[in-house]
Amino acid sequence: PIEELLTEVAVLGAGPGGYTAAFRAADLGKQVVLIEREPTLGGVCLNVGCIPSKALLHTAAIIEEVKTLGAMGVNYGAPEIDLAKMRAGKEQVVARLTSGLKALAKQRRVRVVQGTGRFESPNRLQVETAEGPIVVRFDQAIIACGSSPIRIPGFPHEDSRVMDSTDALALTDIPERLLIVGGGIIGLEMAAVYNALGSRIDVVELKEQLIPGCDPDLVKVLEKIIRRRYENIWLNTRVARMEAAPEGIRVAFEGGYTGLELYDKVLVAVGRQPNGKLIDAEAAGVAVDGHGFIRVDRHQRTNVPHIFAIGDVTGGPMLAHKASHEGKVAAEVIAGLPALFDPLAIPAVAYTDPEVAWMGLTETEAKAKGIRYDKGVFPWAASGRALGLHREEGLTKLLFDPESKRLLGAGIVGPNAGELIGEAVLALEMGADMEDLALTIHPHPTLCETLGLAAEMAHGSITDLL
Ligand code: FAD
Repeated sequence: PIEELLTEVAVLGAGPGGYTAAFRAADLGKQVVLIEREPTLGGVCLNVGCIPSKALLHTAAIIEEVKTLGAMGVNYGAPEIDLAKMRAGKEQVVARLTSGLKALAKQRRVRVVQGTGRFESPNRLQVETAEGPIVVRFDQAIIACGSSPIRIPGFPHEDSRVMDSTDALALTDIPERLLIVGGGIIGLEMAAVYNALGSRIDVVELKEQLIPGCDPDLVKVLEKIIRRRYENIWLNTRVARMEAAPEGIRVAFEGGYTGLELYDKVLVAVGRQPNGKLIDAEAAGVAVDGHGFIRVDRHQRTNVPHIFAIGDVTGGPMLAHKASHEGKVAAEVIAGLPALFDPLAIPAVAYTDPEVAWMGLTETEAKAKGIRYDKGVFPWAASGRALGLHREEGLTKLLFDPESKRLLGAGIVGPNAGELIGEAVLALEMGADMEDLALTIHPHPTLCETLGLAAEMAHGSITDLL
C-alpha cells in the first residue's frame, strides 16, 4: 500500500518562496509538509543561483579591485588560481545555508519529503521518492516550483561545453575562450567571474542594450568598463547557428556582428522559464498559461481558492526576495491573517563590477508611459569616497513626482550599488520626498551620501559640482 501523509498545508518546492512559506505557516501553527525533489533545501537561489554566484563574484571583484591599487603604488602579480579550492569554498557557503534550512525545518516540525510531486486531485499530491510513491493529502497547498533555464532548439545543449548557469557555477574548468549568449544579469555575472579567472569573453545580446529593462544611462557605465575587459560585446546580434565540433563550439552570428567564431565553451543565459507545466496542476484544476506561469491574485491565490502559488512560477521579476515575500503572504493568508502582496518597488541588482541596481519607476518606463518626473543625478566623480576607491565611474539617479516631490524610482551604478539601493527602496515605501532624502544627514565620506546629494540635485539646492 502507498504511504499516505495527511497535512493542513502542502508546499511544493523548497526554494526561497517555498521554504519561507513553509516556515511561516508552521510558525503560525499550521501542520506543514514541504516537498522538494533535490536532496537539499533552498531551491535555485541557495544551491545554483544567488548564493554560489555571489560567492564567486566576491572573489572576482577582489581580483579586479587589487588592480586599482597600482594607482596607490601597490602592485600584485597575476592571481594563482586553485580551482578545486575555489569550488570547495563556494560549496561550503552553500552547504552552511542549506544545512541551516534543514535544521530550521526540523525545529518547526515541518515534514520534508524528498521527491518529485505532482497533483492528482484538488486535495492530493503524489510524490515519487527514492523509496517509492507517497501520497500527500492536504487542506491547502502552496505551489513554489520555481523556474528552469531556457534552452534554445537547435543548440547542442547535450554537449557539456554548452553550459547553462548551473553548469557554469560548477566551475569545472576555466575555458580560454568563452561565449556568453544573453547579456542579461545572469550572463553578465558569470562573464565577470570567468573573466576575472582568465577567460577571454565574448557577449552576444539580441537587443540593442545589455540588461534590457534597465535604464540605458546606468547600463552604459557598466558597458564602458566591461568593453575594456572583454574581447567583444555584440549588441543587436543573434546566434544563427551553433555546432559542437571536436576542436570547439562553432558559432555563427548575424545582425550587428556577422561572422563565425570558435569557442572552448558557451554559456547560454537567455532567460528562465516557469516550471508550471511540470506538476500536473490541471489535475487540481489550477490554470497554467501557455508559458507555464500560474496566475495569482494579491493574496497569492490561484483560480482554485485553497491553492496558492508563489515565486518564479507566478510571473513578474524572477527574484528571490520577491519569492520569499510572496511566500510569507501565502502562509499568512492561509493562517487567516490579513496579508497582501503589495510592494511599491521590487529592487533588481546585477552584481557585476560595477554593480547596477534599480527600483521603482525607471526613466525608460516613465517615457514609454508618458509619466512626468523630476530627476536628480549625482555623478560619483564628485564623491570623495568614490575617488578614494579609484572608482569614479558610478552615478546615483533619483526620480521624483514633479507635484508631490515624492520619490518614484532610483537607479545606481557603481561598486556596492546593490547595498545602496536598499535606502531608496525604504524611502519609496515610506513615501519619502526630495527633502526627506536631501535633509537626511548621511555619513561622510560614503557612497550612500550620493543618495542625499542626488536628491539635493533634483531639489536645486546644489546645482554646481566641484
Ligand atoms: P526556486 O528557487 O526555483 O525553487 C523551486 C524548487 O522547487 C526547486 O528546489 C525545485 O527543485 C523544486 N521543484 C520544482 N518542481 C518540483 C516538483 N514537481 N516536486 C518537487 N520539487 C520541485 N535572484 C535574486 O534575487 N538575487 C540574485 O542574486 C539571484 N541570482 C541568481 C543567479 C543565478 C545563476 C540564477 C539561476 C538565479 C538567480 N536569482 C537571483 C533568481 C532566484 O534564484 C530565483 O528567483 C529564486 O530562486 C526563485 O525562488 P522560487 O522559490 O520561486 O523557486
